[in-house]
Amino acid sequence: MVKESKLYDVLGISTDANDSQIKKAYRVNALKYHPDKNQHSPEAAEKFKDVSHAYEILSDPQKREIYDRYGEEGLSGAGGPDMGGMNGAEALFSQFFGGAGGFGGMFGGGGRPAGPRRSRDIVHALRVTLEDLYKGKVAKLALTRTVTCQKCNGKGGKDGAVKKCSTCNGTGSVTFQRGMGHIIQQFQTVCHDCKGEGEIIREKDRCKACSGKKTVSEKKILEVHIDKGMVNGQKITFPEEGDQGPDLLPGDVIFVVDEQPHERFTRKKDDLFYHAKIDLLTALAGGSIAIQHLDNEWLRVDVIPGETIHPGTVKVIEGRGMPSYRLHNFGNLYVEFEVEFPGNNFATPEQLALLETVLPPRPPLNIPADAMVDDVVLQDVDPMQQGRSRAGAEEEEDGEEGGAERAQCTSQ
Ligand SMILES: [Zn+2]
Ligand SMILES: [Zn+2]
Repeated sequence: MVKESKLYDVLGISTDANDSQIKKAYRVNALKYHPDKNQHSPEAAEKFKDVSHAYEILSDPQKREIYDRYGEEGLSGAGGPDMGGMNGAEALFSQFFGGAGGFGGMFGGGGRPAGPRRSRDIVHALRVTLEDLYKGKVAKLALTRTVTCQKCNGKGGKDGAVKKCSTCNGTGSVTFQRGMGHIIQQFQTVCHDCKGEGEIIREKDRCKACSGKKTVSEKKILEVHIDKGMVNGQKITFPEEGDQGPDLLPGDVIFVVDEQPHERFTRKKDDLFYHAKIDLLTALAGGSIAIQHLDNEWLRVDVIPGETIHPGTVKVIEGRGMPSYRLHNFGNLYVEFEVEFPGNNFATPEQLALLETVLPPRPPLNIPADAMVDDVVLQDVDPMQQGRSRAGAEEEEDGEEGGAERAQCTSQ
């Protein structure tokens, strides 16, 4: 039994939630209420703080135990809740999502209070086919990034042309206050006069190459090595190839493998799954099927006579799955069979009689001797009727198929 459940309620979880449930609930709520997504909503800002606070306590086993036993009161002593401002929450957020910028710069500039500033990481999804991941590939990608202007060495103009901004006294930012609920918060915002630079350069003294901006755009070709066996979501990082700027360490350029669905194969880790259609004769009497692999090699798969392939049978071809990333082995190729039956009237009555000499005999009808018996007739299903009794696109497709078959029957 816990003393109070408020922090659990904030995250929308039960009091016996495990670590991963807590983490997941935090992620969902933090994304929803993050200030960058709710810039003019004090309610969202409050909620974000509450969510961050709840996570801070519940993700720490020690704090969680104290909270469960004594409630919020128990925590107000050492390391109690920090409701002072947004910084605690933001710091927590960026720690949780792995630092400045976050994935794809979803949240704009996250707060990085200390240390040398780093430009945000540039994150690109890299679409790759299963073939690429099977064979490996080098992709050349053009990247446009901001680099320090060589002409003025990043000064923006010649020596002495750069003056300190008087509005912000060279800090680049101005502060203002805003009330949110019971709390007055102090915010910092970029100085409008110098656009956060802290300096002003007169028009005529500006560097011609960068117009005083200190940086220019540059196109660079990156060779991205897609190694055999890489998996969806895997990151390929080019350290410090991100944007440069004055007093700014370049961030990383990160490519994230985005595996495209394949028309023939499905991948699960290092294994491949293939759906094979097989004719009834091959399924019953043996033969071969062909599978086109990812490197354009074809596999001839023998079905041994006497080995009956049932619909839905799954067999494995060992070592013909995906290569393991940086290992020298391969996963397996699993083949699931669909047996295709011949159409109506594929054989004459005489030929059908021959089947009786080959196939196992028909099983006897299990009707009790004293039962009343009525002879009934099987008919094709009327697609219109089927459409009315069932709903949904899939069923409707079935109905159309049935219709085509029926049309075929009547024309014969
Ligand atoms: Zn310049
Ligand atoms: Zn200024």
